[in-house]
Amino acid sequence: MGKLPFERPVIKKLSAGMPGKFGIKTGVAPVSHIDNVAVTDIINEHGSPVFVISEHTLRKTFMDAKRAFETRYPKVRFAWSYKTNYLNAVCSVFHQEGAWAEVVSGFEYEKALALGVDGQNIIFNGPEKTYPDLVRAIDQGSLIHIDHFDEMYMLNEIAGETAKRPRVAIRVNMDTGVYPVWDRFGFNYENGEAWDAINRIMASGKLDLTGLHTHIGTYMLSADAYRIAASKLAELAVGLSRKYGQGIDYIDIGGGFASKNTLKGAYYSGTDMAPEFDDYAEAISSGLLNSSLKPEELPLLVLETGRALVDDAGYLLATVIANKRLSDGRRATILDAGINLLFTSFWYDHQVNPAQPVSEHTEETTIYGPLCMNIDVVKEASVMPVLKKGDNVVISRVGAYNMTQWMQFITVRPRVIMIDPEMKVHIIRERERLETINSLEKVPGHLINFSL
Ligand SMILES: *Cc1c(COP(=O)(O)O)cnc(C)c1O
Repeated sequence: MGKLPFERPVIKKLSAGMPGKFGIKTGVAPVSHIDNVAVTDIINEHGSPVFVISEHTLRKTFMDAKRAFETRYPKVRFAWSYKTNYLNAVCSVFHQEGAWAEVVSGFEYEKALALGVDGQNIIFNGPEKTYPDLVRAIDQGSLIHIDHFDEMYMLNEIAGETAKRPRVAIRVNMDTGVYPVWDRFGFNYENGEAWDAINRIMASGKLDLTGLHTHIGTYMLSADAYRIAASKLAELAVGLSRKYGQGIDYIDIGGGFASKNTLKGAYYSGTDMAPEFDDYAEAISSGLLNSSLKPEELPLLVLETGRALVDDAGYLLATVIANKRLSDGRRATILDAGINLLFTSFWYDHQVNPAQPVSEHTEETTIYGPLCMNIDVVKEASVMPVLKKGDNVVISRVGAYNMTQWMQFITVRPRVIMIDPEMKVHIIRERERLETINSLEKVPGHLINFSL
């Protein structure tokens, strides 16, 4: 047996911590495998840091969500929110499961088309849709969700010029009892602006009003807010049918379901706090079914769930670069992955587990990333097992927003791999290289030469 590495003895204050529902928190268990593939094998093969996506978890989460809604409402369709994670392999899994595409820019729109999504199955949201973006979306028969009056007038103009009838919905913002109200997108319900938008569309006669849309926020811990949102959109649909004798095809409730991540400063963990898909489905279906909509008028229910479908399927594997003591003696561990890759560490208290068996010793530790920047904190002080240089860690529930909001700062972005349901590992995005970055840059001729 080899000599055991020396571990510095520490004197620890007995701090019981805040007891949660299940008593006082105990140690952090190692996570050695993801979908039966060893974490150390992944790092040896693909480097550190590396993002890992579990295809099995993606599909299972999607099926859970779908089942929750389809058992409660007759017509349901998910539209995958591209900005939450637009890696092509991830989008393709959701499209294989039957999800349409929900995009918020010309870039995302092109990405969906290039992946083979039919234009008619693309929902085009967001405040920035350029004239050429709209011309193309109309041409492809996409569902255009109008954000503001200027966009509506531009659509009228294009419709007048091309003699095509754009398929549109209006985005509605509203008070659902959760504050602050997200009122910067779409038309307000309470002050009558939403009706103003509907009346203008109907008066113009140039646009096909096919749907009503809202997206009330993100990481919404209140399922009841969705019941209110669904019933307010249903009221608009009922009013529309009463005034114009015309129904709508769909009501789109947007995204925003909470994932199981724990918000910073939260008393209970996300796994205890976040509503289940069943809770959201119950709230939304009762909002629609208990409205004055007649059974034969019930529209298709569209959901643009992002975060809650993908967060659990994503992991970031990283390696301990060093340990050090801060000036007051507190322990700090530095990883090779920081907020350049983990944008969500600004909001979440991410779960960080060692990838191998660790010593029994625990100590309050702050986990930093590798950047030369003071705000590069992966996890604020928490009781962690004592990790050593070279140890690997697994950061869980990082599938949402990190692989789209990651920064190319100080270093390049790492590889992303996907583990398929047969436990085969696929590279789905290569690690960037210096040439990846340099291929976009140009140095003017007079700057090429220098001597030092
Ligand atoms: C971001 C966004 C979504 C997805 O939101 P999640 O919080 O990730 O579920 C859905 N619809 C619209 C319009 C969005 O902007």
